[in-house]
Amino acid sequence: MRNPVSADPSARAGLPVVDRMRQIAGVKRRTDPRAELSGSGLQCFAPRAGHARRAKAWVALGLLSLGGCATLDEPRNLDAHKQELRAYVETGAYARGLERSAAEATRWIEQRVARRSDGEQLAIVMDLDETLLLNWTRIDASDFTYVRADWDRWVAEASAPAIQPMLDLFHYARSKNVDVFFITGRPERHRRDTERNLQRIGCDGYRGLSCAPDDWKGTAAEFKMARRRQIVGEGRTIIANIGDQASDLVGGFAERTFKVPNPFYLSK
Ligand SMILES: [Mg+2]
Repeated sequence: MRNPVSADPSARAGLPVVDRMRQIAGVKRRTDPRAELSGSGLQCFAPRAGHARRAKAWVALGLLSLGGCATLDEPRNLDAHKQELRAYVETGAYARGLERSAAEATRWIEQRVARRSDGEQLAIVMDLDETLLLNWTRIDASDFTYVRADWDRWVAEASAPAIQPMLDLFHYARSKNVDVFFITGRPERHRRDTERNLQRIGCDGYRGLSCAPDDWKGTAAEFKMARRRQIVGEGRTIIANIGDQASDLVGGFAERTFKVPNPFYLSK
């Protein structure tokens, strides 16, 4: 996976967003960092005395910090949430979460394959977006919004990179003769571009790719559950179902489910 890392050196150093803002504004930190947790940003930071520029930065930072603090009357500002999400990616925490999910699922597949019965046809189910394919470039560029025309252009490019630990998991399952089924909420009209994208990341040999019918009116969860039921009905045992959304995982027809982190959007 191409781990998106900001050109900002403080981001590479893994500094929290509030520290990065402080660094940008040139504001000193008080000796007791616990003070940051106790009240508004205006109480948390002190400007360097006698420096007008610093005082201006202090006010700006205070306003930003106020935007980041929830109160009883006013929810935390949307911008603060977006900064938090970008920091989650830029500090590498997201990549580490993805690695943990893939490692956990791989361990389970290994254990389950070791006690496979004679003739048992094992399968895993994987979602695609933010499970195997990484759309962070698009998510970031769109500022966390969904515009259908922009999304369609992105899919047509077929250039989403693989989430590498998940691609490794895919190859591991295949090496153990476990069938892999992709069940995605992408509609049928995106099938060819999706197949092209999968080919591009070196993902061959999957048993099936299920896209939602173009005129699907139900939920993603309903579509995905119905498809898993069909796979089981064909005589396979789904040992693992892996996805980034609850809607990928609810409804049964899998021995175990694995939730991949995705705080960026919700698909029902
Ligand atoms: Mg997904």
